[in-house]
Amino acid sequence: MSKSFDVVVIGAGPGGYVAAIRAAQLGFSTACIDENKSAAGKPALGGTCLNVGCIPSKALLESSEQFHKIQHEAEVHGISVSGASVDVPKMIARKRKIVDQFTGGITMLFKKNKVTSLHGHGKILKRENEKWLIEVAGDAAEVVEAKHVIIASGSKPRYIPGIDVDNVDILDNVGALELQAVPKRLGVIGAGVIGLEMGSVWKRLGAEVTVLEAMPSFLAAADDEVSKLALRIFTKDLGLDIQTGVKIGEVKKSKKGISINYTDAAGAAQALEVDKLIVAVGRVPNTDGIAAPEVGLRFDQRGFIEVDGHCHTGIPNIWAVGDVVRGPMLAHKASEEGVAVAERIAGQKPHLDFNTVPWVIYTAPEIAWVGKTEQQLKAEGVEYKKGSFPFAANGRAHSLNAAQGFVKMLADAKTDRILGVHIVGPVAGELISEAVVAMEFAASSEDIARIIHAHPSLAEVMHEAALGCDKRAIHN
Ligand code: FAD
Ligand code: NAD
Repeated sequence: MSKSFDVVVIGAGPGGYVAAIRAAQLGFSTACIDENKSAAGKPALGGTCLNVGCIPSKALLESSEQFHKIQHEAEVHGISVSGASVDVPKMIARKRKIVDQFTGGITMLFKKNKVTSLHGHGKILKRENEKWLIEVAGDAAEVVEAKHVIIASGSKPRYIPGIDVDNVDILDNVGALELQAVPKRLGVIGAGVIGLEMGSVWKRLGAEVTVLEAMPSFLAAADDEVSKLALRIFTKDLGLDIQTGVKIGEVKKSKKGISINYTDAAGAAQALEVDKLIVAVGRVPNTDGIAAPEVGLRFDQRGFIEVDGHCHTGIPNIWAVGDVVRGPMLAHKASEEGVAVAERIAGQKPHLDFNTVPWVIYTAPEIAWVGKTEQQLKAEGVEYKKGSFPFAANGRAHSLNAAQGFVKMLADAKTDRILGVHIVGPVAGELISEAVVAMEFAASSEDIARIIHAHPSLAEVMHEAALGCDKRAIHN
């Protein structure tokens, strides 16, 4: 007889493993199926995020930033350092250790919460007697049954036809996080989040980095003032060569490296020679073999599983969360959807507001935002007021030698309700939490303005931006 569960989750990334733990906490017998294996061939839970995404990229961003600071900023503090060098294999080994620690942590959490972990490819076969039958095709193939199925199969890199990613010379996120030496010349196709984070890592470690972006604008999803300043800092200070408005042509590998033919923004033919090339042009939903056709899953034009506002697919008791469905491809969005689905299965009424999902880009300085950009508010005809305050006028930022950037707050002109907050600056990814909390509680800019912020702290910049919405910033 097949094993029977209340809930079976397919995929153990931040959407799936969190959904499984929450379902188990709520008293459901739960299994989580995942097919991922580590480079050593062992089952590795945690999905893209823990294995080849958020966690390893942040480990390398931190290591490379430390090196950059030692080389370029120690002097400012009166500290002389000579002969600083990088041991890339050691840096990569540290990253792997962190990844192993975290993926192993999910195994422990599953044990603690009594989630059954099944290794293999999960495929929904059919429904019999109000139960879904799910095949687990792994070392030992089996079929399990479940009352509810949560699909959390995530995403995979999007490729450009004609550019063969081999993860030796032409790399996606997996290869970009595993280089064993600093390439002399690195090309990056796509100036999105991965392109900027990975480009920063290898630039700080000494590579010449050229980023080729198809869109005429830079970081179009961010607030215009943020993307303008970020572009200036990344090109002038960090030294990334970012070219927008390009059209990629033929990409050829030879003994000398990789040559990329492209047309620049002015329409002129260009050629770039590099030693390694990262392709980071977005990700696509991963739905390979997820369900038999007769299950009836529906997909939108871009291949995402169709769901309603509660992540229900419209097929009885089949749900889908995370990167495989619409919305931002972010780990925290995936996890919160997973929690919400488990709670909905338990009869609760959870609520998620996509307008308060924070975005963070872990460059230096960091970029973070929540809510609407100024250009969105203009396009929607919303009357707003704005307060903006520079880190250059903040004592803590100067003590950190990180006084670039600003916090900008946008609030409704009539009600004063905060509509968006945009940050370029030190630890923007941490500072944004205050704005997220405020927006979740429908706070006004005056609410933030009246809160006592510690001195000296970076959070004072948020405080001053809020004061600025009423033109009463003190230090500007
Ligand atoms: P995934 O994490 O993709 O997990 C899906 C899992 O399901 C995988 O383990 C996969 O092997 C498994 N699977 C798929 N199909 C099946 C099947 N049929 N049977 C069994 N198993 C299956 N987001 C952030 O919020 N912050 C960041 O800093 C950040 N950095 C990133 C850096 C990089 C380089 C990349 C690539 C992504 C980053 N992301 C970041 C995005 C983040 O990784 C994803 O949004 C998140 O992992 C999505 O979670 P998920 O659970 O939906 O899917
Ligand atoms: P992205 O969507 O952020 O950026 C892709 C970029 O490639 C875009 O600017 C796009 O215009 C460009 N592009 C597309 N086709 C192109 C072409 N043919 N030639 C040149 N440029 C082209 O995607 P990504 O950087 O691959 O990252 C994927 C997703 O992973 C992100 O959307 C994000 O959700 C997630 N992620 C998040 C973080 C974070 O939260 N810090 C970090 C990394 C990745």
